[in-house]
Amino acid sequence: MTTVRIDKDGLLTLPAALVEQLGVAGGGELTAELDAAGQLILTPLPERAAASPASLAETVHRKNLAAGIQHIKGVGPKLVEALQRIGITTLEDALYHLPHRYEDRRELRSVASLRPGRTEVFEAIVVSATTSSTRGGRKQYEVVAGDETGTVVFRWFNFNQLWMKKAWHAGKRGIFIGEVNQFGQRREILHPEVEWLSAEDDIQAVMARDPATYGRIVPVYPLTEGLHQKAMRHIMKQVIDAYAGAVSTVIEPEVLQRHHLLPLADAVREVHFPAADNDLEALNRGATAAHHTLVFDEFFFLELGLALKRRGFTMEAGIAFEVNHKYTKPLLKLLPFSLTHAQRRVLSEIKEDMMAPYPMHRLVQGDVGSGKTLVALLAALVAVENGYQVAIMAPTEILAEQHYLNIHGWCESLGVSVLLLTASHKGKEREELLERVRSGSAAIIIGTHAVIQEKVEFHRLGLGIIDEQHRFGVLQRGILKKKGENPDILVMTATPIPRTLAMTVFGDLSLSVVDELPPGRTPVLTKIYAESRRHQVYGLIREEVARGRQAYIIYPLVEESEKSELKAAVQMAEHLQSAAFPELKVGLLHGKLKPEEKEAVMADFKAGEIHLLVATTVIEVGIDVPNATVMVIEHAERFGLSQLHQLRGRVGRSSHQSHCLLIASDRLSDDGVKRLRVMEATTDGFRIAEADLEIRGPGDFLGTRQAGLPDFRVASLLRDGRILEEARREAFTLVERDPELKLPEHQRLKEEMLKRWGGRLELAGIA
Ligand code: ADP
Ligand code: MG
Repeated sequence: MTTVRIDKDGLLTLPAALVEQLGVAGGGELTAELDAAGQLILTPLPERAAASPASLAETVHRKNLAAGIQHIKGVGPKLVEALQRIGITTLEDALYHLPHRYEDRRELRSVASLRPGRTEVFEAIVVSATTSSTRGGRKQYEVVAGDETGTVVFRWFNFNQLWMKKAWHAGKRGIFIGEVNQFGQRREILHPEVEWLSAEDDIQAVMARDPATYGRIVPVYPLTEGLHQKAMRHIMKQVIDAYAGAVSTVIEPEVLQRHHLLPLADAVREVHFPAADNDLEALNRGATAAHHTLVFDEFFFLELGLALKRRGFTMEAGIAFEVNHKYTKPLLKLLPFSLTHAQRRVLSEIKEDMMAPYPMHRLVQGDVGSGKTLVALLAALVAVENGYQVAIMAPTEILAEQHYLNIHGWCESLGVSVLLLTASHKGKEREELLERVRSGSAAIIIGTHAVIQEKVEFHRLGLGIIDEQHRFGVLQRGILKKKGENPDILVMTATPIPRTLAMTVFGDLSLSVVDELPPGRTPVLTKIYAESRRHQVYGLIREEVARGRQAYIIYPLVEESEKSELKAAVQMAEHLQSAAFPELKVGLLHGKLKPEEKEAVMADFKAGEIHLLVATTVIEVGIDVPNATVMVIEHAERFGLSQLHQLRGRVGRSSHQSHCLLIASDRLSDDGVKRLRVMEATTDGFRIAEADLEIRGPGDFLGTRQAGLPDFRVASLLRDGRILEEARREAFTLVERDPELKLPEHQRLKEEMLKRWGGRLELAGIA
């Protein structure tokens, strides 16, 4: 904060430090305005360009979009800091900082023709200015202004009275901008922007002097504290005028033509300061040719990287397994059922990859209960038949343990040795286990990420299987790969990932989908219950248990802390046992139990000795107890839809009718209810995933950034799915023609791709 003084002639002298900060040390013009709160805002005006656009200075700057934003006139240290907060450090960052909406200021309107709901620009004269109180006793400043056609009211609620009185009084003329509201006959604008005109000012001349603000479709930018829209617009105008010409794409002209793309520089200009003939609505939807061009450009290089990465894998030497049926045939005989068509199809896709002399990188996607575990086991046995080891990695100990129990059960009779390795194996026991892995006496090694720890050495790792991939990063895939000599990698996920997301996050994997559930399943009935109808939920639990069935009650992560989550679950279990269901056996499962304890609880539940299992979300993935037919989820509103779907997948695993009961707060908002209704309406994992993606956005959908989701500058996965597919097709076709981008005409494409995505896609080998 700096104190400044106005002398008796009304002149304001700015201290040197402030002049420096404003970036006008060499002299220049500022615009001055009072904002709604009566704060004075000074914004440096760009110097009126004397030189032609293609001046020497511009040519020099052309090469240097990496230069800092402080090179823009008027951007001093304070603004640099603010701009940095919204991701703008360089000139290039600024070029790609897109407006999030647009305002139509093409026309100067008369007061009578102001349209409600629009942001309008008009000239008017202040008729009256008064302070008054609303009926609620709130102070407000009210101004009536008008022209020969009519009047309009301006209103402020937070204001500095002294300033307002000085600035706004009858007789003053100005250009006003603001969003028009209609109340009955009266039209109002809340704290309009104003530019005062003196008696001799010619309005057209004033407007012509500030082409970033008047006479056009105006961009509205995302802002941050200390950065005002008007200042931002002036900064952007300068950046665009001087530097947009410096961007160009290296995408081939045929491709640009095929997709009706603009030259990149034009697209950048248009997206910031659209020509007057643009369709405002298309602009606001991000659906203009300019938007399309920028989005395509961004997706294309990502997909090019993914295509190269996938090609890179297939060019490495890998293991060519033989399918000799030594173990797989006997296992299929052992099963009390036959494989579904989908399981068979996916399995043959996997086998084909395994037989090829390149490393496999395949993603198997299948809804909960579609039988992925069995597919994975059959793939594992192919590797074992060839004398190789297999590592199976699960995200939680409980899941690893369950995989172990299932797989161990099947493999024992086949004479295949299976070993479980988790973080809870310590000391001597651990040493022994590691020795069995090292010596090769264990064929299938199941575990959590303990499996990829440094100390673990495999005798001969041929296949790595990662279950529930989205909890692991791309990194883990890489480490697992290094535990053998280019082993095959199979990734399994139960989250039905919408196509656009899968294409960016897992774009370097081939995809198999298990799109069929084993027969004889009855769809789960889902119903939302308000907290106040809890007794009905308990009634249903009682009925089902009386029929010999079992139930889960799930507790979410309550308020961030794991501790309180635990407490809530423990208290719930106690309460249910002592008060609600004294006649039943209630069990408790949570992440803080020792592995033996967890195993004991799971074993009891599986054996039917526990009727009602209270659990935290540790059971979210993979738990398989077909006799359980009731899934109660407490505080359902706190879960993502995909997570609810996963939980619901724990029931409905037999021919008995199953129920999923979502208990939600009595005070749940309409939106919250609407969201949960998706669960009632469908059991289709893809539809749920898509709804979830729409509501929560891609980052949240996958849980963490770690999931490998790239940050896009301009593209949106929700909005631009179609463009993504187009860009992917072009990129993959190109890599098909020139698998390593060796042709001279593709060198610049490759460089550009590496520059943008190289580090993030771990493409070191490709360069
Ligand atoms: P996912 O891991 O895909 O959620 P699971 O592998 O846990 O599904 O399979 C769920 C249940 O279905 C398991 O009890 C499994 O034994 C059984 N199952 C798997 N394949 C079949 C099939 N083809 N027919 C009948 N039951 C099957
Ligand atoms: Mg599973």
